[in-house]
Amino acid sequence: MVSHDAPATPQPRAAGVPLIELRGICKRYGGGAQPQVEVLRDVSLTIHAGEFVALVGASGSGKSTLMNLLGCLDRPSAGTYLFNGRDVAGFDDDRLAWLRRDAFGFVFQGYHLIAGESARENVEMPAIYAGVPAPVRAQRALALLARLGLEARRDNLPHQLSGGQQQRVSIARALMNGGGIILADEPTGALDSHSGAEVMALLRELADAGHTVILITHDRTVAAQAQRVIEIRDGRIVADSGVAAHRRDVAPAQPRKRDGFSTWRTDLHEAARTAWRGMRMNRTRTGLTLLGIVIGVVSVIVMLAIGEGARQQVVAQMGSMGTTIMYMSSRPPPSGGPRGELTPDDLDAVAALPQIRRVMPVIGDPVTVRHGRVDRELYVLAASEDMPSIHHWKVAAGRYYTASEDRDLAPLAVLGHKASVHFFGDGPPPLGRQLLIGNSPFEVIGVMAERGADSGAQDYDDMVFIPYRSGRARVYQAMTQPDYVVVEAASSADVLAGEAAMRRLLVARHGGREDFGIGNAAARLQAEVATRRSLAVMLGLIAAVSLVVGGIGVMNVMLMTVRERTREIGIRMASGARQADILRQFLTESVLLSVVGGVAGVLISLVLGAALAASGVAVVLSVSAMACAFAFAAVTGLVFGWMPARTAARLDPVVALAGE
Ligand code: ADP
Ligand code: MG
Repeated sequence: MVSHDAPATPQPRAAGVPLIELRGICKRYGGGAQPQVEVLRDVSLTIHAGEFVALVGASGSGKSTLMNLLGCLDRPSAGTYLFNGRDVAGFDDDRLAWLRRDAFGFVFQGYHLIAGESARENVEMPAIYAGVPAPVRAQRALALLARLGLEARRDNLPHQLSGGQQQRVSIARALMNGGGIILADEPTGALDSHSGAEVMALLRELADAGHTVILITHDRTVAAQAQRVIEIRDGRIVADSGVAAHRRDVAPAQPRKRDGFSTWRTDLHEAARTAWRGMRMNRTRTGLTLLGIVIGVVSVIVMLAIGEGARQQVVAQMGSMGTTIMYMSSRPPPSGGPRGELTPDDLDAVAALPQIRRVMPVIGDPVTVRHGRVDRELYVLAASEDMPSIHHWKVAAGRYYTASEDRDLAPLAVLGHKASVHFFGDGPPPLGRQLLIGNSPFEVIGVMAERGADSGAQDYDDMVFIPYRSGRARVYQAMTQPDYVVVEAASSADVLAGEAAMRRLLVARHGGREDFGIGNAAARLQAEVATRRSLAVMLGLIAAVSLVVGGIGVMNVMLMTVRERTREIGIRMASGARQADILRQFLTESVLLSVVGGVAGVLISLVLGAALAASGVAVVLSVSAMACAFAFAAVTGLVFGWMPARTAARLDPVVALAGE
């Protein structure tokens, strides 16, 4: 059944150097507050390649402790361990992991299979840490299972296998990376006599095939099947049947090269696969943890969207009203008295202020406008040629009047879109046509672009625009001063200072009386934008806190996972997983958790955002906010997964193996 290709990379062994040599090994437990127990005392032992050794002793005599030392799962308290002539004390954790991976194969009394993985996956596992490509791995695992008569059971989970079958799976796993040295700790201890005999036969065959087999047992009849029997009592070797004839053509493992990039990819892929399985195995728990992340991500995205929506609403308002526009008009001072008068000199002085760019006096009143037999009360706005540019408004047809035409009192008119349609219909623009405004004839020279819904309380589309001076001369002869003055600040940053400067200037010019008012919509809007922005930031922060809470959930669940899977971690370490492998695996698990939560969160926020938008809430879902929330979630997984993953990676293999 068992044959040929088993031992790792055959290499001529340095002549005479034993495979394993222990010199004066001691192992003590306790110390400090606890009483110190000496479990192994001055153990010296030499084992050559190809030997089949049985370590026999009563329960508690220190056999397992010795095996853990031999298998580099543990370090001695004193003494020297030479592996193939080299002192293992000088090996770092990764090199010890390499030895476990390539040189040793462990078989335990309790089988120690990974519960959620099939027979085949259990057998494959050590090869993952050796960086063997998946197809090669699968093929070799199947071949080993077939060799051990388990072909039909390859997809069974451990609990679907009998004890004997599980032990055979664990032997196949021990052989996966070569298993030059098989360390079997009471392999038949939990088996019925028939299965036990089968397993022993298997170990004998392995020994015959050239594997070094170290068998630990309390049963002398089992031990008798080995070539050499070493007896241990109270941590001391009390008898040794001596070095038997052993094969000298067997060599210990040599480190195998792991190809950097493909290994990295394989590792990540494997970690993701295991992580995914772990998530599926604990669906409820995973779901609840995900919920935490999802709530965090959704609240970040939706809060930012609502904040941004509110901000953009104000900004849109500012766009139509202008961010630099103030309004000024005369009025009675608050202390009583007549209303003031804004003279042309006042306006010139205001326009000369450094914070002010332009000043546009306006007179506007409903006036009867007539064309042919059609007449109508229309709002006639007399203002300077700056009107379109101050209001960010375009002329759709014809042109606007110029400054010199205003000075010359030219009787020219530009129509709002609706006004034009009212008098002249939908046809070509009525350029050159005549209108009677009040009692004066005006010539239409242009039509404004349609302004639509944003024109505010007054419908700007239904107005007539005429030059300020010619308006005063021909229509508004009774007016001594403008109805109001539009003042444009040099920039939106100058609005507040401009308002203050204007107020000071005019108070001084009006003999200390504040007989005018300044309306500063721009400043109010700016303040509003600032408030809404800080509100949005605050909402975002609160949402971020909920994401952090989600992250703490991830940490919690990962700590639980690590604790539940301590044994699995131990098994993986015994199979050669390095600390980095374990760290990567658990980190991948937490990141996967948070990434899945992040994706779900983004999707849900899209739906929620659409629903909010449909119900009339101003929301602006931005890709950058979603990307941010997603990245934040992933980073949360990384940050909060780090501590549990490191806890897992730093577990002592022996302690982990003994764990629940
Ligand atoms: P065996 O495998 O021969 O039954 P072990 O090697 O498991 O024996 O244990 C040998 C002795 O060491 C036992 O008395 C046990 O109580 C003690 N021992 C094992 N591990 C520890 C530990 N981590 N701390 C303290 N004592 C331990
Ligand atoms: Mg034991």
